[in-house]
Amino acid sequence: MSRNSAVVGINWGDEGKGRMVDLLTAGHDVVVRYQGGGNAGHTVVNEYGKFSLHLIPSGIFRKGVVNVLGSGVALDPENLCREIEELRSRGVEVSPDNLMISERASLLMPWHRDLDALEEARLADRQYGSTKQGIAPFYSDKYQKKTVLAGELFYPDELRVHLRELLEWKNLTLTRVYGAKPYTMEMLERWLADFCEPIKPYICDTGVYLAKAEAEGKNVLFEAQLGALRDLDLGIYPYTTSSNTLAAYAPIGAGLPSMRVDEVIGVVKAYSTCVGEGPFVCEMSGEEAERLREAGFEYGAKTGRARRVGAVDLVATRYGVRLQGATCIALTKLDVLSYMDKIPVCVRYRTASGETEDFPFPTELDSAEPVFEYMEGWKSDISGARRWEDLPAAAREYVLKIESAIGCPITYVSVGPERESIIYR
Ligand code: GDP
Repeated sequence: MSRNSAVVGINWGDEGKGRMVDLLTAGHDVVVRYQGGGNAGHTVVNEYGKFSLHLIPSGIFRKGVVNVLGSGVALDPENLCREIEELRSRGVEVSPDNLMISERASLLMPWHRDLDALEEARLADRQYGSTKQGIAPFYSDKYQKKTVLAGELFYPDELRVHLRELLEWKNLTLTRVYGAKPYTMEMLERWLADFCEPIKPYICDTGVYLAKAEAEGKNVLFEAQLGALRDLDLGIYPYTTSSNTLAAYAPIGAGLPSMRVDEVIGVVKAYSTCVGEGPFVCEMSGEEAERLREAGFEYGAKTGRARRVGAVDLVATRYGVRLQGATCIALTKLDVLSYMDKIPVCVRYRTASGETEDFPFPTELDSAEPVFEYMEGWKSDISGARRWEDLPAAAREYVLKIESAIGCPITYVSVGPERESIIYR
């Protein structure tokens, strides 16, 4: 029988999911991206080099693994074409044999990116910190039923009629709300020819493919983007993303809702990072933050933006574990903390209504303050550790402290970005 796993983020994203998927694809036949678009980056370091993947699943590097972009993703043809080119130019095979796109995935249109930028400009100093990849306008339109499905590319006559309708509607918003330039059919024709034609060979009924793969006992790995706290419904709204990042959504976004998720591997970073605006209770500042940012090289894979950094947040992490239904945890970047004398751990929040270990309603987060305990640092290089026993006692204690607080076994401890820099407990 097949065994399906999901690799998901427990916190704000950038936990190191890409590196875990890259490692775990060894035991899987199919990797599926089920939500989000090219607005975040998964960094993978392997024998081909260092890559920032935005849309293509991290299983692309493994021979024989089939990668699927499910119906829940924001399919940006421009970004996808660029990513395929980049991978090919560096010796990675990308073909319809190892990449499939759901015919039910909606296309991110050029105007989605424009609208993202126009709205952030309107907000001026009240921005949400969008990556301006058009994700929020895309999902809004999808829920309004105003997007084009990838499969429509195979019906050119009907597609032209549909595009003309959307164009007329979208130009009203562009010109009359934002005073921007309208799109023309010629512009869309060029976009179709340049970016949609090249991806057509990958588009198919991935639901049929996944059902067959399950019947054949193939193991499927669901790859998430961002983390639990960015989930549209249950995250730190409105500083969430516009899709559902939770494992429970994986089978739906993959395009085969009946699929089981047997194992949920929640990825947690050994400290906290956050990109963009919004409450971030454990945030460090000044020199302390600078040091951690440099040690962990915390700059966004998509935007190059300096990430906000902070202590590990057990309140947020416990909440993330619950939302994801994690069955085990991969703790990443433990090696980054090796320089610290004392390591802060946020065990509770102090809020307007008292101290709490439960993650509060988003409005309360603004005034919440962290309550820290301090653990002994280990002050030695642990990047060569490959067994649990190789870790210094203080490092093991740090891991065990997190494990007992979040109530989920930490099965993997990552001590470096490379595929083999991992301890399996
Ligand atoms: P993702 O979106 O969750 O895949 O995370 P990102 O790729 O945005 O960020 C994770 C970063 O940490 C990448 O640059 C990885 O190469 C790196 N990384 C992952 N695990 C480790 C680790 O255990 N130690 C170190 N030093 N770096 C790691």
